[in-house]
Parts: sequence; structure tokens; C-alpha cells
Amino acid sequence: MFRTRRALLLIFSAFTLHGNLSAQTKRNIHNRSVLIDTHNDFPSNGVSNGQLFDSDLRGKTHSDLARMKEGGVDIQIFSIFCGGEQVNPYAWAHREIDSVHAWVKRNPEKMAWVRNSSDLTKAVKKGKLGTMLGVEGGHMIEDDLGKLDTLFQRGVRYMTLTWNNSTTWASSALDETTHPETLKQMGLSDFGKTVVRRMNELGMIVDVSHNGEKTFWDVIELTNKPIIASHSSAYALSPHRRNLKDDQLRAIARNGGVVHVNFYAGFIDSTYEEKAGQFRKRERNKVDSLIRTGMQPDYARINVAREHADEYLKIRPSISLLLDHIDHIVKVAGIDHVGLGSDFDGIEAPPRELNGAEDFPKITEGLVQRGYSAKDIKKILGGNFIRVLKANENR
Ligand SMILES: [Zn+2]
Repeated sequence: MFRTRRALLLIFSAFTLHGNLSAQTKRNIHNRSVLIDTHNDFPSNGVSNGQLFDSDLRGKTHSDLARMKEGGVDIQIFSIFCGGEQVNPYAWAHREIDSVHAWVKRNPEKMAWVRNSSDLTKAVKKGKLGTMLGVEGGHMIEDDLGKLDTLFQRGVRYMTLTWNNSTTWASSALDETTHPETLKQMGLSDFGKTVVRRMNELGMIVDVSHNGEKTFWDVIELTNKPIIASHSSAYALSPHRRNLKDDQLRAIARNGGVVHVNFYAGFIDSTYEEKAGQFRKRERNKVDSLIRTGMQPDYARINVAREHADEYLKIRPSISLLLDHIDHIVKVAGIDHVGLGSDFDGIEAPPRELNGAEDFPKITEGLVQRGYSAKDIKKILGGNFIRVLKANENR
């Protein structure tokens, strides 16, 4: 009897010990990796809601300074964005950049500017949130190379050539797929090519998220530096125009670039848009009234969705779908060409296990469970982006 009990106890304690160790090992892998999220929309969404990034916004947003720390985020690239309908987009960009500057200034012990890979290393070493900027939407340079240069000087290190709206010099995924006949410019114009060349010269990474396929292939032909997709997932698993097809994934691999997987339910789960459609129809009036107050349409939808968080929880996909997209990109493009671009605070529905920046460790856990080595996880979480950043720098 004693022997059996003792044997059982031994088996039980070994089991729990193993369980604990394994949870700790996963957390260690997470903590030892440099975690870089290449896309967060707080500057446009949070700021338009009058929210302060360095205050406690749990339950109100996907991210704030404390929750990024909790989730082990080392480097956050904040998106500087306004929609195509906005007048004076360049002034808008500066306003958002000013607010990010203000956060860093107010929190010198917790945040640090990152303008290059050596700043990045220093920020990580000091345990501060390395803060970087990316412009979302080429319309924000208002067809002026001087404005592109100024944005670079203010710390912007990538630019998506288009958002959903095309520019005069590059066509977007939305326009190329839904009404190509209205486009005056398919792919890159001569000026668009000049923009890409200038970005290569400056060391500003070309971001092809939101770009149409024609623009994408023109970039691939022209760029002499590795590119990124800062927040796009895999088309083969979920055929959305914002995702990248397998031949595009392979082209990014040949270019040495990285695809950062977007967490949005509508991009990772092909059944989501239909499920969300019923809520959107019901809430249309509420969304429209917010838009009339001057709120950007996407953010009006996010705010209304948040009021119905319980209903949305039922249709948000599992994190396993997000991991499937990572697996797919690894399979098609290789382990050196995948990263994370959450789109937090720019989307109404991430996977149900990921409520915000505090939940990044669950991705590492999932990757460990799927058999990824610590070395591979390091690449996915941030190592691959660091390689692209260095390759774009002028040293
Ligand atoms: Zn976007």
C-alpha cells in the first residue's frame, strides 16, 4: 500500500514538475527572444478616442504601455495613419508622431526611441519599450519627396506604399480587386518608382501590406533592399485581398524580406466576415453616427464592436488559426521570412485567446507546442525583422 502510494506520488510530482518546467521553459524562450510587433494602430485610434498610451486601458484597448511590458514586447512599431478621406494627411502624420514623442518623453525610464539597429539593441538591454514608427499609406507624403525625407528624419522607418486607398502613384489591393476600371495608375508610376528608390536610399523599409498585386510586383522588380509586409497573412488559407498569395510569399523570400502575420479574424479565418456581417448590419446606424462625429470609419466600427464584446467573442477564431498562417508562411517562404504584425488597436477582432499585447506569450507557447525550436521562435518573434532593418540601414 505504502509503496503504491509512494510510486503514485512520485509519478504525480514528476508530472507536475514537468508541467511547471515546461511552462517556465516556454516563458524563458519568450523572454529571451526580442519580441517585435511591426504594426500597432494606437497613435491613430487611441489618440482619436482621447486615450493616453501610458495609462491603464485594460478592457478599452488592445494595448497600453503596462500591458506591452506584461506581454514581453521589446520593440513596438507604431503605425502613423489616417484614411484617404482625411484632408492634410501630412499634417495629420506629424500630429500623431508628436503624440508618440510625448509618450517617450513622459516615460524615459520605460520607453526609448529606436531609429536604427544599435538603438534597438540598447533599448532591449535596458528593458525599455523600443519605440519605432511606420507610416501607413503613401498618401501621407502628399506626392512630395521632401515630405518623405522629413518623415524619415522624424523616425519613420517603414511606409506602406498605399493604404486601402490608392495614391496617384501606386494602386492598392482594394482598388485593384474591386474597381480597377476607376484607377488612373495600375502598379507604380514613374513617381512611385522614384519614391521606392528614395526609400531604399534613405533606409526606410518598403512595406507592401495593403498594396495591390501589380504594385507588389513592380516593387519586387525595383527594390534593392529587403521589404516587409508589416501586417498581412496567407491568402492560401484565407483568400482575402489583404493577404499574400504563395507566389508573393516566395518572392519576398527571394528578396530577403519578411511577412508579419496579421492577427485580424477577417484575415486569418475565411468564415469570419460572414459571421460578423450580421452584427455590422444591425449596428450600421450607430457606426454611421460615430463617423459623422469625425471618427475614422474603421475606428467607429471597432468602438461599436467593443460595446458588443461578448457577442464578438463567440465568433472570434482560435489562436490555432493564426499559428496555421505562421506554419504556412514557414512552409512556403521559409523560417527566415515570417514575423508578427498584430494590427492591435486597428482591428475589432483578434483570436479569442489574444485580448491584447499582454497575451503575446500565448503565441510563443503555441509555437513551442507545434515543435518550433527556441532558435526558430527567436527568428519569428523579431530576429527576422532585425535582419531586414540592418539590411536597409546606411552604415
Ligand atoms: Zn492596415
